[in-house]
Amino acid sequence: MKSHINRKEFLKMSGTVMAAASFGFPNIIIPKRKDTLGVALVGLGNYSTGLLAPGLQLTQHCELRGIVTGSPEKIPVWQERHNIPDANVYNYENMHQVAGNDDIDVIYVVTPPGLHAEHSIIGANAGKHVWCEKPMAVTVEECQAIIDAATKNRVQLTIGYRMQHEPNTQTIISYGKNETFGPVTEVRTAAGYRAQGLPADDWRFKPEMGGGALYDMGVYPINASRYSTSKKVVAARGTQRVEREEMFRRVDETTEFELLFEDDIIATCKTSMGENVNYLEVDTEEGWYFLRPASSYTNVGGEVSDGTLLEPYTGHQQARQMDNDALAIIENRPPIVPGEDGMEDIRIVKAIMESSDKGGDWIYL
Ligand code: NDP
Repeated sequence: MKSHINRKEFLKMSGTVMAAASFGFPNIIIPKRKDTLGVALVGLGNYSTGLLAPGLQLTQHCELRGIVTGSPEKIPVWQERHNIPDANVYNYENMHQVAGNDDIDVIYVVTPPGLHAEHSIIGANAGKHVWCEKPMAVTVEECQAIIDAATKNRVQLTIGYRMQHEPNTQTIISYGKNETFGPVTEVRTAAGYRAQGLPADDWRFKPEMGGGALYDMGVYPINASRYSTSKKVVAARGTQRVEREEMFRRVDETTEFELLFEDDIIATCKTSMGENVNYLEVDTEEGWYFLRPASSYTNVGGEVSDGTLLEPYTGHQQARQMDNDALAIIENRPPIVPGEDGMEDIRIVKAIMESSDKGGDWIYL
């Protein structure tokens, strides 16, 4: 049967969703593009409370619309502070039900690393985009399982490496990539803080939860070495040690390590829960540059050998990160930090641990 609709009428209707099949078009309903995504925070601990929830209030493309928590006493506080309806409150047992909740587009996993795989996979299987905090997980297999779940469910996955969104860090990344001052020859970088007052049963003291300096803070120098060089790590070696044995019974307090990259570039790295250290120094064939501090929430700044000052960014790092990640989803392009980036760091963490167990031998990846 011929359609009686003329071209003018067709054009008049074409701004609205039409029953396209009646015109012989494929039966595809194009979802309305969202400008703002609903985010549910999973795990309402220090980072969610102190940085992510306040950061979400400053974003342009995200809204805190849901929570997943195992602590009932936190629910009324969060509901009131962030205007979260009962229907958007979940616990770890029922969080898969978020699948039917159109308010929520993104699950942001902020639980201890040992639970990242479980919670990220539930989020992906519910059809939600997944933002997963660093370190991505405790094993390479868990990282792969998260990537597989995201791929299977066609949702985006990104890891919460906020430094890759920070403007001065982005400048340094571009120097390395473009060889602005010639090829990178050497990297020195460290991230650490003096842990004090943590309860003995805190996850940061449990290896199965991703505790210890190397998992918790070591991924900063690992990731920084990798983004400064834009090269692949070929081998790693390191030594793990503990000074306060009464605190660090099962995990490392400090790990010093070296990464050997393609082109024989060496990164000399340190991470610690016993010492405040925070820098990234890069030497190149024709110059140098550094960030000091290199991974704090504020004041990341430094200098370049040509006299350029890398003045600290005054915005909110986490807000910028979450807006970038939301825009990647909205505009359907890859996120700045894909899951594979997080997985590569865990592969390196494991190699450093193996090296320490073997007396500091190089472990080839
Ligand atoms: P906290 O210990 O403060 O919070 C973790 C929260 O996870 C808890 O409050 C709890 O929330 C939930 N949780 C669920 N199961 C457990 C469990 N078995 N043991 C302990 N907590 C549990 O940790 P942080 O907020 O400091 O860190 C969380 C994640 O964020 C980690 O992956 C960490 O590495 C990362 N992080 C990232 C930072 C960054 O700059 N990118 C900075 C700081 C942390 P609830 O009570 O709601 O269930």
